[in-house]
Amino acid sequence: MATDNPLRLIPSVDRLLNSAELAQTISQYGQSATTRETRKILDALRDAVRDTPALPIPELHELATRISANLQVKGSASLVSVMNLTGTVLHTNLGRAALPESAIRAVSNVARGNSNLEFDLQTGGRGDRDSHIEAVLAELTGAEAATVVNNNAAAVLISLNALAEGRGVCISRGELVEIGGSFRIPEVMEKSGCTLVEVGATNRTHLKDYRAAIDANTALLMKVHTSNYEIRGFTREVSYGELASLAHEAGLPLLADLGSGTLVNLEEYGLAHEPTVQEVIHAGADLVTFSGDKLLGGPQAGIIAGRKDLVQRIKENPLKRALRVDKMTVAALHEVLNLYRHPETLQQALPTLRHLTLPAATIRATATSLLPAFEQALGELAHLAVIDSFSQIGSGALPLDQLPSAAIEITPRAHSDSRLRAIAEAFRQLPVPVVGRLQDGSFLLDLRTLEDPELLIAQLEHISIR
Ligand SMILES: *Cc1c(COP(=O)(O)O)cnc(C)c1O
Repeated sequence: MATDNPLRLIPSVDRLLNSAELAQTISQYGQSATTRETRKILDALRDAVRDTPALPIPELHELATRISANLQVKGSASLVSVMNLTGTVLHTNLGRAALPESAIRAVSNVARGNSNLEFDLQTGGRGDRDSHIEAVLAELTGAEAATVVNNNAAAVLISLNALAEGRGVCISRGELVEIGGSFRIPEVMEKSGCTLVEVGATNRTHLKDYRAAIDANTALLMKVHTSNYEIRGFTREVSYGELASLAHEAGLPLLADLGSGTLVNLEEYGLAHEPTVQEVIHAGADLVTFSGDKLLGGPQAGIIAGRKDLVQRIKENPLKRALRVDKMTVAALHEVLNLYRHPETLQQALPTLRHLTLPAATIRATATSLLPAFEQALGELAHLAVIDSFSQIGSGALPLDQLPSAAIEITPRAHSDSRLRAIAEAFRQLPVPVVGRLQDGSFLLDLRTLEDPELLIAQLEHISIR
């Protein structure tokens, strides 16, 4: 009887749910989730049996194992901590800046309950979420006023919309940049409702080009820091100071998109110069936008600092509500900015700056001390060595600037691409996934950003290369 309709061999939902095999799963994941998953598995099984009547029907315990495994996968976090040992300090795909401890504490404090995010504790009336960071931003940048939105792309979008909708914005052809992930200045301008007025040539733009482009419809002049590439050779760009003078002569504001934007002179830390927010404001820019999670070393945010009347127009723009930051961002940003008020301790307290300034010799010493543990875990499969390498800042900051570093180099003994990929994969599958980089037939772990060497070593015993 059963052989003429194999569908009858499939257990019912109730039978599975009431079986001893699923009791533990139900107590762990709950009745409703387990029921849903059971239905799904049985429906799929019925479809499969209809297609292939000869298909063997799994035993009750096999079905229960499948249900439990699916529930486990669904319940486990998708966003997890990883060890970034790629050598790129500010890695966009790996979540950019690591926050300082004080900022992490501030985030968890406000996350836990209510806060005075938009509540004035003095008057008991409505407050302004920017108020928590505006004063420290003004103090640090020299700007009259400031506001914060979701990221720097949003900062550019809202600034252009608030100040130039329906009008022209003059920008050099050499600055029409595309940042990764499809952020292109011309497209953001279009979305903001202003008209792009291209000025000069790709490699050379002169002050007189801007002067000739200004007309009655011009709303502002814009300068974009070409953070992720460099035009070399026969080039000319107009400085912030010159451009600000021209803008002010014409009664227009100058908007500067600094991209990474830093609040400290990186040369003092042995790095190459990147324009600081202070110097661009001092040079006369009326509004400056920059990221919170690039060189600043904070949470994802877009900071807009500058003239009070212009910042006010941005705060009143309806997009502000759509692009505003949440309480956790405000909390983290305040703590990060606060660290900049104490330059003496900044380098130690701010992970981004600490990572960027770590001497190669220190990194090499760490690598050398870890090498024996790597030999022990991987020596049969791979050749291991400590090598000189180069890290980079990442997120478009100083792209040509390489930071001398050191890495553990893992080269499969059987030279093959598939062995190499298997090694990289095995590191990605560790309890705390480790992400390195492939280079010239080897897998490299650049230790510049390694925060917890003991954890890395402890994980090596779990490594399994197939
Ligand atoms: C990175 C960058 C942006 C975008 O900033 P996000 O904070 O990633 O949105 C915009 N403009 C420039 C010049 C940049 O370098």
